[in-house]
Amino acid sequence: MTAAENILIEVKDLQVRFPIRKKKLFSSEIKQLRAVDGVSFDIKRGETVGLVGESGSGKTTVGRAILRAIDPSDGEVVFHTNGHDVDIAQAEGEELRKFRQHMNMVFSEGSVNLSSLASDRLRLFRSRMSLVFQDPYSSLNPRMTVRDIIAEPLIASGMMKDRQAIDDRVREIAARCKLNLEHLRRFPHAFSGGQRQRICIARALVSRPDFVVCDESVSALDVSIQAEIVNLLKDLQKEMGVAFLFIAHDLSVVAQMSHRVAVMYVGKFVEYASTEQLFFAPRHPYTHALLSAIPRADPDAEFNPIKLQGEIPNPLDAPSGCRFHSRCPFARERCSQEAPEWREVDIEHFVACHFTEEFDFSRQKGQEPRE
Ligand code: SF4
Repeated sequence: MTAAENILIEVKDLQVRFPIRKKKLFSSEIKQLRAVDGVSFDIKRGETVGLVGESGSGKTTVGRAILRAIDPSDGEVVFHTNGHDVDIAQAEGEELRKFRQHMNMVFSEGSVNLSSLASDRLRLFRSRMSLVFQDPYSSLNPRMTVRDIIAEPLIASGMMKDRQAIDDRVREIAARCKLNLEHLRRFPHAFSGGQRQRICIARALVSRPDFVVCDESVSALDVSIQAEIVNLLKDLQKEMGVAFLFIAHDLSVVAQMSHRVAVMYVGKFVEYASTEQLFFAPRHPYTHALLSAIPRADPDAEFNPIKLQGEIPNPLDAPSGCRFHSRCPFARERCSQEAPEWREVDIEHFVACHFTEEFDFSRQKGQEPRE
């Protein structure tokens, strides 16, 4: 497969704006909150892309706009089907395989522009994408059994109708997610946070999607359970070839999980590179500051976290020029006047900074994040 064929999702100049009414003394005005402002990147088949940034940077909005849970205001999200999926689905059962063949006939063009897909076609296409939420407590319906929760996407999409086939598929995916099959008749309240998150993962993967957004999916869990869920996701990725967009604010977890990592700041990507490049040779001052604050694996290693001045700006009043200029220790006059170009500074290493060539933020091995 060529590099171009290996790309599953292409995001091109994605923009999400929300109108916000601002009240004044005797009037009001509508301002545009630019939650996502011109984001471009791609995700390969079977790859995990980590997405990090402070709260309010727009990470969740990017994930939801790709899935069309939120309609993008501008830009494109292109999903390349390329027909590889039928072979994969053969191992997953006859009904699922037939459904995929039907989908391939409907979407015969090979590339689907999700951002402009009509609602009936989008409903059909949804079985190829899924979402795992942060909170495993509120994201499960307390009145449904675990079996019914996991089976829901199969029934809602019309993918499977035969009860026995649905039961077989639910048991198969539950076993892969290391759930006790004797507990499928129980209700969610009987389970711990880690087990509930396994149920959420089983529900997300039951329709054999190519792409899953994990939105802070391990953030609410204890550290030991976090590690179990991260290992489970990695195992499932190897078995099923699914691609993940892994949204998190904990860089250590992102490093363990991701092949590539994107860093976001006030609605824009500031850096995107392989995990190795981003953690050991970052090129953007914001990435450098975030990495400096991660506890070290080696207790004797130097630890000097960079304290950024001020708060993350409000996207309603985003700074002109480079959005990071109000907090950047290296900012110059040009930074407040001219927005930096998003450019490839090394192979598959993208940065938005005027002066990146002048910095050397490379880090020594041994300074990697704690496991
Ligand atoms: Fe800092 Fe200027 Fe680079 Fe922005 S463009 S990150 S303000 S040096």
